[in-house]
Amino acid sequence: MIGQSKAVDLLRRSLESGRLSHAYLFVGQPHVGKMSLAINLAQALNCENEERPCGQCKSCLRIASGVHPDVQVVGRLAGADSGEAGAKKEISISQIKELQRSAGLQPYEGKHRVFIIDGAEYLNEESANCLLKTLEEPPPNVLFILLTVNDNRLLPTIVSRCQRVELYPLPAGVIEQALIERWQVTPEKAKLLSRLCRGGIGWAVSAAQDEKLTEERSLRLSELIELVDDGLEHRFAFASKLAAQFSKSRDSVEEALGLWLEWWRDILLVKEECAQLITNVDHKETLNRHAKRYSLTEIRDFIEAIRTAWEQLEQNANPRLVLEVLMLSIPAKGGATDKLPQHLGSLR
Ligand SMILES: [Zn+2]
Repeated sequence: MIGQSKAVDLLRRSLESGRLSHAYLFVGQPHVGKMSLAINLAQALNCENEERPCGQCKSCLRIASGVHPDVQVVGRLAGADSGEAGAKKEISISQIKELQRSAGLQPYEGKHRVFIIDGAEYLNEESANCLLKTLEEPPPNVLFILLTVNDNRLLPTIVSRCQRVELYPLPAGVIEQALIERWQVTPEKAKLLSRLCRGGIGWAVSAAQDEKLTEERSLRLSELIELVDDGLEHRFAFASKLAAQFSKSRDSVEEALGLWLEWWRDILLVKEECAQLITNVDHKETLNRHAKRYSLTEIRDFIEAIRTAWEQLEQNANPRLVLEVLMLSIPAKGGATDKLPQHLGSLR
């Protein structure tokens, strides 16, 4: 594990003293290392060597490559080949029933059976209640590790049955160094990726190996940047497209808002002459242009508007309404008066 020393120390102490909980809930933003930590813990429990996890014994290697019969990952993806469209909305009751069935069996090879529930916020009420029964009366030598970006979206009864372990975003400098030393990424690329990944080292490592990820990010970002110059009609069409995505997957909307928030924070940083702290180091010129275009108050107000929209979505407000209001909050460029269509005049 890179970073997360608090979580690692806690788990190591519990493991060494034989007081491991039967269920953990790892909470942290996407790509922060929840799955890596869960895999490491499963390895430590089943490792064949003294220094656990060694990462090299048969057991450790099989767990790392996802073929160990005693370590299973349950998630909402239908299969490796399923793209956004193929992604299931929820973790179904049949998946949990299957999990319960195998949790009752003796370990095949290792010492412990480990079930990793990836995206535990996608357990629906039925499957969560079903899982709850197992968490209340756990079979011996079985460990459950639930991973989530937000434990507020889980049933409180589930949360209370697990030991909560929080994972924090890593500082850009730590990620930059790790990319160079462990993954042999060039210093220039490491600098960019360590800033773009927002503390999620997993994204940075994937992006270092797959150019498409940074390209996709750029594309999404330019769409958001262009929106600022677009008329209201375009902005509302965008809001409606985004709202439609929200009902299928919150992640893509949160990702868009996250990108936007970062972009406007960068504008603020440039405006306040702290350009060395910006995230979007590959867009310096546009950031300079935008920083000149808006006043400090306009920038701050819009950042606040994005945060508000985020909170409202979190509280299950109507996504379309929230996003439309956000579109109306985009500051007018260069002091020009942004004319609202007459029928929308009352919205402001
Ligand atoms: Zn090992």
